Amino acid sequence: MRKTIYLDHSATTPVEPAVFAAMTPYLTEKFGNASSIHSFGRDARAAVDEARDTIASSVGASAAEIHFTSGGTEADNLAVLGAARANRDRGDHIVTCATEHHAVLESCKRLEEEGFRVTYLPVDSEGLFDPSDVASAITDRTILVSIMHVNNEIGVIHPISIIGRSASERGVLFHTDAVQSFGVLRVDVDRLNVDLLSASAHKIYGPKGAGFLYVRSGVRIEPLQFGGGQERERRPGTENVAGIVGLGAAAELALSQIETTPPRLAALRDYLIDSILSRFPDAHVNGHRQLRAPGNANISFAGVEGEILLLNLDLEGIAASSGSACTAGSTHASHVLTALQLSPELARGSLRLTVGRGTTKEDIDEALVALETIVGRLRE
Ligand SMILES: *Cc1c(COP(=O)(O)O)cnc(C)c1O
Repeated sequence: MRKTIYLDHSATTPVEPAVFAAMTPYLTEKFGNASSIHSFGRDARAAVDEARDTIASSVGASAAEIHFTSGGTEADNLAVLGAARANRDRGDHIVTCATEHHAVLESCKRLEEEGFRVTYLPVDSEGLFDPSDVASAITDRTILVSIMHVNNEIGVIHPISIIGRSASERGVLFHTDAVQSFGVLRVDVDRLNVDLLSASAHKIYGPKGAGFLYVRSGVRIEPLQFGGGQERERRPGTENVAGIVGLGAAAELALSQIETTPPRLAALRDYLIDSILSRFPDAHVNGHRQLRAPGNANISFAGVEGEILLLNLDLEGIAASSGSACTAGSTHASHVLTALQLSPELARGSLRLTVGRGTTKEDIDEALVALETIVGRLRE
């Protein structure tokens, strides 16, 4: 089989063998329901408790503040819908930003249908806004601010700690979607001044279908699901024991290499971006060059459709992502690229390449050769 090069680590990552090995017993001989009294149940409960302790200490929280979910989407939904609905008596206004993940934006839309008002902060051409914009947007009726830590498309890092401080000064709850930063940047709930924080296992070499929501002690949230008493009645349903164990193992592994892997990826990413810019002087980097997650390169090529570029790269065995979606023959730029106010041509020609633990310099060199050939051909 021809070699494939995976440059789409912001979409998902492979499960690390050590994580898979930690999970397997809970899919086989230790299959118990964590709520059962017998030894099978106790084994499962012990594993869930251990993962909860690992996750709690990894973000500087206590175990009772961690709520396991089915992933980042559910954690974002539970944070935004749950906190807004539970605090409706205190106000009806939410502040978020235009480039949030759809898990947050669609939750906000839902809240608007329920009578809440939402301010969507615009971003500048580099994908950022001034933290004082958040402070100015807060009114006496604001109950929640939700701003992501790292953007999944363009990789920009928002100054969460400063934003969190201005929210807490006004007595407003602050949620951050940390799905792209957890395990990559230092994420500490007190240092970031957050009340709610979402993360997901499959973006950090853990399994799909597992994640968590941190809820600061004393913060009210309404559940989205109803049933048993699991997760302090905030997220009832039989625990995904193997998934939770995988999340804990993946987090532990990520933190053990947080001083080494992210800098290595940042160097690879810079090499990739610099090489593209030297081959294509008119290429445009989307998102701030420095305030950027280590693995993310997002580049627009004028005169090229991102989707077509993607399909051609795939034919060469290179897996990437574009910031645009093709619907009924016409290409629409993503809401994130649209928010950057790129020219329609650049917005349509975007390519996201995200490097990961398995990426080598040779992979990048091969991808560059393919990119040069394909972009040259498409431009003719
Ligand atoms: C992937 C992602 C999500 C969704 O997480 P899932 O576990 O896939 O549901 C939410 N927010 C961001 C920033 C993401 O990158």
